[in-house]
Amino acid sequence: MPQGWSVAGRRLEFGAAFPSGKLVVKHNGQVEHEQKLASQGTWDIPVDGTTYRLVRTKGFLAPKTELFSHDGDKVPPTNKLVTPSPAAAGSLCAAHGAAASSACARCGTFVCVQCAGPDRVHCQPCSERLITEAEKTAAAMAYLAPAPVLAIFGGLFLALLGAGAGLLAVFIAKRTESKALKIAAAVALYGVAVVVWLVLLAVLMPFNTSPR
Ligand SMILES: [Zn+2]
Ligand SMILES: [Zn+2]
Repeated sequence: MPQGWSVAGRRLEFGAAFPSGKLVVKHNGQVEHEQKLASQGTWDIPVDGTTYRLVRTKGFLAPKTELFSHDGDKVPPTNKLVTPSPAAAGSLCAAHGAAASSACARCGTFVCVQCAGPDRVHCQPCSERLITEAEKTAAAMAYLAPAPVLAIFGGLFLALLGAGAGLLAVFIAKRTESKALKIAAAVALYGVAVVVWLVLLAVLMPFNTSPR
């Protein structure tokens, strides 16, 4: 679930609106554009003279929302506003030797209008790296999904154990490439959480329902 995007010095982020929220484009703290959203759909968002496309599809727990540039390239999500650094006067981009328009906010490479990434904040290789990282995090977060279910069945105590198991499962999922290992770790951790809960119940119960 992305927090939002940084595009050409603007912040694109979600806001509260009935029924499925809205997307707000802010520039220097001022709202430049607002788009009401549904849980699924495609919307054209004007940003700095071009059109970006917001696509919302059904996700596992919440809708999955992605942003694409005019050319159809995916825009990397960022947690806060990231602005491009200005290129030094007279500097040239590394790829074409054309006049640089800005410097990548992540690695500092000079880029021209052509070789800037889809968000016009990062260079293309950095954009791709950020997208891969974000997708890895999102996939790992899916292993937290059983935690709220445990809360419904076992109340606060099991919820805490489940949250602990879930966070550990996410931690492991982020650090291994093996899907089998991720699933095995999650199953084992949630299993341990439930067993610990059952043991605690068994230990505490006699005091609650003590005869005499
Ligand atoms: Zn870069
Ligand atoms: Zn260039």
